[in-house]
Amino acid sequence: MLTLIEGAETWVRNLAKRPDPESLARVLKTMHDARERVHQRLHAHGIKH
Ligand SMILES: [Zn+2]
Repeated sequence: MLTLIEGAETWVRNLAKRPDPESLARVLKTMHDARERVHQRLHAHGIKH
């Protein structure tokens, strides 16, 4: 799951044609937040990662 989100983040960062900086920042923040939520959930359930 974390790898999936990281893959999506890398994909956005490497887009040949980037959106404007504000849109890019928003997308990256959304992904970062999503990864944080998943990470907290892993801890909450005691899942090793
Ligand atoms: Zn952790």
